Amino acid sequence: MGTATISKMADEHLLKIYNRFPIALDHGEGVYLYDADGKKYLDFQAGIAVCSLGYSNEKYKSALKDQIDKLTHTSNLYYNEVCADAANALAKISGMDRVFFTNSGTEAIEGIIKTVRKYAYEKDGTTDHEIIAMEHSFHGRSMGALSVTYNPHYREAFEPLIGNIRFAKFNDIESVKALINDKTCAILTETVQAEGGVYPADEEFLKQLRQICDEKDILLVFDEIQCGMGRCGDYFAWQGYGVKPDCMAVAKAIGNGIPVGAFLMTDKVANASLKPGDHGTTYGGNPFAAAAVRTVIEIFEEEKIVENVKTLAPYLEAVVEELKAAHPDAIKERRGRGFLQGIELKVPVGEVIAKAQAAGLLTISAEGNVLRLLPPLVIGREHIDEMKNILDKILT
Ligand SMILES: *Cc1c(COP(=O)(O)O)cnc(C)c1O
Repeated sequence: MGTATISKMADEHLLKIYNRFPIALDHGEGVYLYDADGKKYLDFQAGIAVCSLGYSNEKYKSALKDQIDKLTHTSNLYYNEVCADAANALAKISGMDRVFFTNSGTEAIEGIIKTVRKYAYEKDGTTDHEIIAMEHSFHGRSMGALSVTYNPHYREAFEPLIGNIRFAKFNDIESVKALINDKTCAILTETVQAEGGVYPADEEFLKQLRQICDEKDILLVFDEIQCGMGRCGDYFAWQGYGVKPDCMAVAKAIGNGIPVGAFLMTDKVANASLKPGDHGTTYGGNPFAAAAVRTVIEIFEEEKIVENVKTLAPYLEAVVEELKAAHPDAIKERRGRGFLQGIELKVPVGEVIAKAQAAGLLTISAEGNVLRLLPPLVIGREHIDEMKNILDKILT
């Protein structure tokens, strides 16, 4: 079945809520994807920062197949080895103490909102605590996660959302300080903002957030769903800044394509917040999802994935800077960290994405006319060169 037939069939009954690209992807190999008509694409979007290992990784595939043969689901009423392994592996690479598995990033944020509220409730017995989130943030689409997501366009029709959320200016510590009061229980931020336009945090900003939180016993929460798991050159972006949060949310790349997320916290938070009965999930961390997480982390270690990002990120940045120098009428600015790069354009980003697709390169956008590059973390120099050649031709 070709792309035209598939898209027609899909549009019959799927809710029309995405402006899908006119491409039906069929299979992948390494860092290349193939559509239903056999056209080959270099992938610089990784399924929105999910498929960090690229496609058709043998170890990953066989681990999932083995787990299907064994057991895919038990519920969280029972122990299973692979879930324990996955939790311990996540704790080890993050330095956090406690893990709760979810099915998505949004659910990880939901769990954190409950955690920080419960932590504050345990302290003073009251319930109307406030959370400070950031302008241009993105944390998900459920009612809680949407409440801490900035874009008014996403939020407006769904008001009232959960209350007592304040938005500060990202990278502006004074705007955070101005919002803090006795009711503030948490400060939530992406370490590197992604959907909102690709804005990395300033180191000084994160350090001062940490200091304020320590002084006032406010919980510092980092959303590492997109910027974490190696993408920014460290397992978690905050490790590169040397600022450890009290809680963090992960998802996307930790399963490399199996729907799984998690929220993690230190023992200080865990011992004084959620208790048995306060939260739960039927699927979260089931053996199939956990097998994905465990295997992904094993592959990251064996294939030195994070090191690859660290080594190649300066080259990727240099290549984008070269593009910018060569096309001053098309490119305004490069921003980003590691393999999460944003190119703010002076020409419409939608047109660039469409032309790139026609030329065999997949990329996506971010808010503010930004072209977002999110390659699988296993790319080599040759793939960066290939991306450059395609964008160079398009922008000319
Ligand atoms: C994708 C994303 C989410 C939401 O994750 P889902 O798995 O889509 O629910 C939350 N925060 C950030 C930073 C994200 O990139």
